[in-house]
Amino acid sequence: MENLKSGRGIQVVVPGPEHTFTLDEEALEELLLRDDVKDRSVVVVSVAGAFRKGKSFLLDFFLRYMHNKYNLHGSGDDWLGSEDEPLTGFSWRGGSERNTTGLLFWSQPFKATLDNGEKVVVYLMDTQGTFDSETTVKETATVFALSTMLSSVEIYNLSQNIQEDDLQQLQLFTDYGRLAQETSEGAPFQRLLMLIRDWSFPYDHPYGAVGGQQLLEKRLKVHEGQHPELQTLRVQIMSCFEELACFLMPHPGLKVSSDPKFKGNLADISEEFKLCLKQLVPMLLAPENLIVKKIDGHKLKSRDLLLYFKSYINIFNGPTLPEPKTILEATAEANNLSAMAEAKEVYETLMEEVAGGAKSYLQPSRLEEEHHRARDKALHSFRSKKKMGGVAFENLYADRLVKELEEQYEQYKLRNEDKNLFGQVGTMVILLMLALG
Ligand code: GDP
Ligand code: MG
Repeated sequence: MENLKSGRGIQVVVPGPEHTFTLDEEALEELLLRDDVKDRSVVVVSVAGAFRKGKSFLLDFFLRYMHNKYNLHGSGDDWLGSEDEPLTGFSWRGGSERNTTGLLFWSQPFKATLDNGEKVVVYLMDTQGTFDSETTVKETATVFALSTMLSSVEIYNLSQNIQEDDLQQLQLFTDYGRLAQETSEGAPFQRLLMLIRDWSFPYDHPYGAVGGQQLLEKRLKVHEGQHPELQTLRVQIMSCFEELACFLMPHPGLKVSSDPKFKGNLADISEEFKLCLKQLVPMLLAPENLIVKKIDGHKLKSRDLLLYFKSYINIFNGPTLPEPKTILEATAEANNLSAMAEAKEVYETLMEEVAGGAKSYLQPSRLEEEHHRARDKALHSFRSKKKMGGVAFENLYADRLVKELEEQYEQYKLRNEDKNLFGQVGTMVILLMLALG
């Protein structure tokens, strides 16, 4: 069992030169392709928003909950920790030095079982953005976009209130969403939670989920006389997310916000804040509230997530943010690649059964028959998955699949011949031994 202390934040999206980003594929593969999790449906909870607004601090409470609930199988009541324990996990505060931008994963996947019995894996994702002069708007927007595109639960961390600007940050997703909805049903994204930190009007709207809902309704209301663009934005935000919510967090107390010696001990955090944490965290992370990442209505597995990361990172590396059309193409690409990977597995499984390493030599004609059978099953598996990007696009990947399967067949043929040779040598040795008596 994993100890929380032995985990760490792994930076998987790393800033490169000229405001580009690179993917640490090795680190990401190590995490997402772990044998015990790679085939599980994936839940990705991400926290994004401006710099130094308590994102990592909050995530460290998420970690405490996850560890208690899923690793220790705790009751879920005492997860908040003891009064005098420093808060560890994703590093928070970091003084005044410039933090890098990028995306971090917690190094430990959490295995959970949903109420319907489905086994899933939960990843926590932290984002870092800075609003200093060295960081372009594009860089910050990229981190925010990747976080939204790749998570099933996006926590949009906002300071004090929901401003018009904060809503406008969602424009890229609503544009993308409108395009995606032309060819597929349902909302392209799942849960968006606007988390308002340091809410200071509890008399207007109370802390927590109820007050948040009131504020959200107020902010998303479409008024007559409102600029048409603002109206459209509001309507689209609502249609792009399956679930839109808001939560009002109280100020955590002066020790948290201003004491340089503050280490995260619960004793130094306001009671109100702790009460709200106890409401908020299970609302997001209890097994009955986990949301599996879906794209175009399909559940993503841990290993699929890797494909989406790879597709998206490329398109976000241009000099400007990608057009919604480009994002849709990248999504369709990853979507086809995922179906392709599954089809290849079908082929391999079938071929291993008859021509695997431990199997004996097959007549070439028999091997070819098996190859045809496995290839057809694989193609069927590929075709039967609903895919994005249209038929012409799908056909490109189907061709590529056939080509790769033929290449694999060549390997099986070579291996089969080796067995034959080996068998002949073996027979000769036996004959020789018999002859020598
Ligand atoms: P991040 O850059 O958004 O990840 O911010 P951090 O989690 O590193 O926290 C930045 C600073 O904000 C730290 O000094 C925290 O103690 C403090 N902090 C954490 N939560 C809150 C909050 O809800 N309100 C205020 N005012 N400060 C907070
Ligand atoms: Mg941080």
